[in-house]
Amino acid sequence: MKVLVCGGAGYIGSHLIRELLSLPNYEIVILDNLSQGHSGSIPAGLAFEKVDVRDKQKLEQVFSKHQPDAVMHFCAAISVEESVVDPLRYYDNNVIGTIYLLQTMNKYKVKYFIFSSTAAIFGNPEIIPLTDDASTKPINPYGDTKLTVEKILGWSENAYGIKYVCLRYFNACGAHESGEIGEDHDPETHLIPLVLQVVLGKREHIKIYGNDYDTRDGTCIRDYIHVTDLATAHIKALEYLVRENKSQHFNLGSGEGYSVNEVINAAREVTEHPIPAIVHPRRKGDPPVLIAGSIRAENILGWTRKYDSIKKIKKVFVYLKINNAALPAIQAEIIHKNTII
Ligand code: UDP
Repeated sequence: MKVLVCGGAGYIGSHLIRELLSLPNYEIVILDNLSQGHSGSIPAGLAFEKVDVRDKQKLEQVFSKHQPDAVMHFCAAISVEESVVDPLRYYDNNVIGTIYLLQTMNKYKVKYFIFSSTAAIFGNPEIIPLTDDASTKPINPYGDTKLTVEKILGWSENAYGIKYVCLRYFNACGAHESGEIGEDHDPETHLIPLVLQVVLGKREHIKIYGNDYDTRDGTCIRDYIHVTDLATAHIKALEYLVRENKSQHFNLGSGEGYSVNEVINAAREVTEHPIPAIVHPRRKGDPPVLIAGSIRAENILGWTRKYDSIKKIKKVFVYLKINNAALPAIQAEIIHKNTII
């Protein structure tokens, strides 16, 4: 099976590729415009095309040259706050880019599509934990771009027979066991890598965006899920598509949530760094609580979380430290520009 991994040089895509490489039956082609991805994360010897999915002509050349059997689509702009400030850029990148990809798949008769969706499609949930069929009402453009693609996929299956799986990630966290790859966006907007930047002296303090939410300590609660577990879900999803030939969507969460304060306190405890924090106004577009149940992924995909021991967010930091992953990798990044954390 030849898999075209769009956005394969980015955070989740690069971890997916490590998992695919450990299996015998997959041939991999990476497509990435390297706007956020890191060329240093691409394993030697893999086919790589530096292409933007919105460049239709080049996209067609990639399909014609490699003739993939399946596409996994990780390319997207992902900042909630930025999407509120510049929504058109988000619709352009996330929706139009995916439309071009689907049109090209249809032209080249590629049947299987795995899509990186998000918890942000749910908006302010009425019931926690969110079930796989909870109602979707995004409260920011980022979430709406992803929900729009989910709708487009439904109609595309109907019209062109493209079979798809939407994986709705909750908060990806952690790094690869090798410590070679991890989370590193520029600009970084995510809580855990920003906290680690404070530990490493790259940032003076962490901002807490709002402490007046209706939560146990007033700060937002999120469901943090290990990036390698997200990666394995993609492979299970592709196996499912090939086996069942049926489209489906799945929540990928752990069923437990941690507040911004709890994340910062966990990092303080593990790193023994004071990590100064300053309360700022709420960030635009943030729902107070996002926690998912993943019953469908467990039952239908047979997905189990290897990092289920991350019962407490502290374990994420312990994990990052013990596995030589994030903390040293941030330092390494200063020396080797392409090392990602
Ligand atoms: N957050 C924060 N300070 C930061 C970055 C994030 O307080 O510097 C909060 C953010 O408001 C949200 C939570 O941490 O409530 C997780 O945000 P992140 O950007 O990591 O992921 P998101 O939930 O937006 O996908």
